[in-house]
Amino acid sequence: MNKEQIETLKKKLEENKESLQGTLQRFAKESDKPKGDWKTVYPDFNPNESGMEEEADEVEEYSALLKVEHALEIKLKNINRALEKMKEGNYGLCEKCGEEIPYEKLSLVPETKTCTNCA
Ligand SMILES: [Zn+2]
Repeated sequence: MNKEQIETLKKKLEENKESLQGTLQRFAKESDKPKGDWKTVYPDFNPNESGMEEEADEVEEYSALLKVEHALEIKLKNINRALEKMKEGNYGLCEKCGEEIPYEKLSLVPETKTCTNCA
């Protein structure tokens, strides 16, 4: 990879990071301990106004959000890790075998951690 390609991927990673954080902030709070973890905020509901059925819906909605939150959190962690690796100068190398990951693969998913053989 040349410098220009790395810069392109860095920009992509930073854009993805921002949009992910924006999405997470809509329903979760970033916690300080451990840093980088997100907690889904339980939706407010008034027990006097909501019947049992509605309550069940909210619990369902909450557990669905938890799953989404978890997936987004993992993606965000991978992005942060990729940005760290750029700083360290070992970005784009497979974490399992150390081979270079093809630019085509990285341009689709810039936070990719392994090469095609190891994935
Ligand atoms: Zn590999």
